[in-house]
Amino acid sequence: MSEMEKKPRHFIEQVIDEDLESGKYDGRVHTRFPPEPNGYLHIGHAKSICLNFGLAVQYNSYCNLRFDDTNPVREEEEYVKSIIEDVRWLGFDWEDRLYYASDYFQQLYDFACQLVESGDAYVDDQSAEEIRKTRGSLTEPGKESPYRNRSVEENLDLFKRMQSGEFPDGSRVLRAKIDMEANNMNMRDPVMYRILRATHHRTGDDWCIYPTYDWAHGLEDSIERITHSLCTLEFEDHRPLYDWYLEALDVYRPQQIEFAPLNLSYTLLSKRMLRELVEGGYVNGWDDPRMPTISGLRRRGFTPASIRDFASRVGIAKREGVADVGLLEYCLRQDLNIHAERRMAVLDPLKVVIKNYPEGESEELEAINNPENESAGKRKVPFSRELYIEREDFREDPPKKYFRLAPGREVRLRYAYFLKCEEVVKDSSGEIIELHCIYDPETKGGSAPDGRKVRGTIHWVSAQHAVSPEIRLYDRLFRSSKPGSGGGDFKADINTNSLETLKDCKLEPSLIDARAGEHFQFERVGYFFVDPLDSREGSPIFNRTVTLRDKWTKIEKSGK
Ligand code: ATP
Ligand code: MG
Repeated sequence: MSEMEKKPRHFIEQVIDEDLESGKYDGRVHTRFPPEPNGYLHIGHAKSICLNFGLAVQYNSYCNLRFDDTNPVREEEEYVKSIIEDVRWLGFDWEDRLYYASDYFQQLYDFACQLVESGDAYVDDQSAEEIRKTRGSLTEPGKESPYRNRSVEENLDLFKRMQSGEFPDGSRVLRAKIDMEANNMNMRDPVMYRILRATHHRTGDDWCIYPTYDWAHGLEDSIERITHSLCTLEFEDHRPLYDWYLEALDVYRPQQIEFAPLNLSYTLLSKRMLRELVEGGYVNGWDDPRMPTISGLRRRGFTPASIRDFASRVGIAKREGVADVGLLEYCLRQDLNIHAERRMAVLDPLKVVIKNYPEGESEELEAINNPENESAGKRKVPFSRELYIEREDFREDPPKKYFRLAPGREVRLRYAYFLKCEEVVKDSSGEIIELHCIYDPETKGGSAPDGRKVRGTIHWVSAQHAVSPEIRLYDRLFRSSKPGSGGGDFKADINTNSLETLKDCKLEPSLIDARAGEHFQFERVGYFFVDPLDSREGSPIFNRTVTLRDKWTKIEKSGK
């Protein structure tokens, strides 16, 4: 909150401030988040959620959660549930203000009758095809329907019979009578109702006519006495229509304000494309940890605080741009750095035998759980004669500036001792299978009494104590910063290495008891999250949330 207050006020806050000043809505601020339950929410929706609910917190006012469920064909209860879970998880509370547009169907119908009675709406018998053809274009005016000048009585009678189910699907629509020559195509007698026999997820078969988005949305806002109706830029051209309906009905008028939607590099935020990924089996469901859905991000190990921080950093503007997915990952690292406990884990193990460490013995060394947070305390880590280190932490022919282990070289084992490599053991094919080393018992805790220094510190796990749960290395789902921009199918840009499953890692023993939903930093390796769905007690599965550093920036700079 304090961070938000330091920032310059964005244009929507400025509008609200002015409205509060002038007393426009009697000093009220009331926003809403209006998802259509036809898919899972993604990080773009999170921006809208943080904006709408964030304003409610900031102005000590209200934000409704409203399901804009006016289209029975694509909507499902499953989506309603996931949306509720996602908004709550992000940390927002609508208290008792959960609404459904479908609860207003009767009211919307009555409003439509009112427009028919005032001569502002008519029943058109043209087919959808004919209506499309006579709409004109950006350069040509539309043509008036031959049914446009029916009497109020006839329109009212036909509309009621549409509602009572007398006519087949698609045979008639109700249209607003505005102006077929309007420059703004949205004003050319837009459709308000269509006949559609489809079972609605909440109203069942009560209705066979359904309202269009443009007709319903402003009225939903009006009914709920929203003050500032915030939506993305594509609705800018719909605002005159939004206002026209409210004015024609002479009802309470909220103010629609458009802002730029979130676009994110390396990421697709189109519900249609996300559905294609799920249905085509390119990912394992809507909550696959590679998906930009809120449920996917949650399963990957993103935290609500990191997403709110990201939303606040990208800000609210009128002009559309592309945010860097690296910023999202940065926000996550910032949060996890403070909150995730450290552990040691070796993902690609190479065995080390410490020749001068007594056989059959072991000891417990003290390790710090989180250097950023003293209250996280310390833990004991077992140490013994045989260890695993990361294969990449040893080089037979170390290049310049490589300070890790090499023949004859001494390094520090984190939280333990100095270790020196004496011999490299290879198999018949020449692959290194084991290192024979000696340790210096005088260097316990990581420093030498004689003051000699080592330049590298590496992590390790005691071989006899190690555990090997499954580790899933997730990476970005797309190789291209703008998937599909090459003109081809966006699916051709999928990163085929976006999931690698490891089964032979060596982790410090306490990790076998990690509980679903816990975060860890594997020292020098990355942040990991215990998968909340596939983990079982005593057999956790670790999802890599994010690497410690941004390796993609480097790849981009080197031109791939
Ligand atoms: P659809 O094509 O199904 O309408 P949608 O992404 O617009 O897809 P909605 O359920 O209508 O889905 O969106 C709910 C709210 O989230 C709307 O107010 C919409 O403007 C906002 N929203 C959607 N995408 C973004 C985005 N990328 N950035 C910011 N807000 C978004
Ligand atoms: Mg939408």
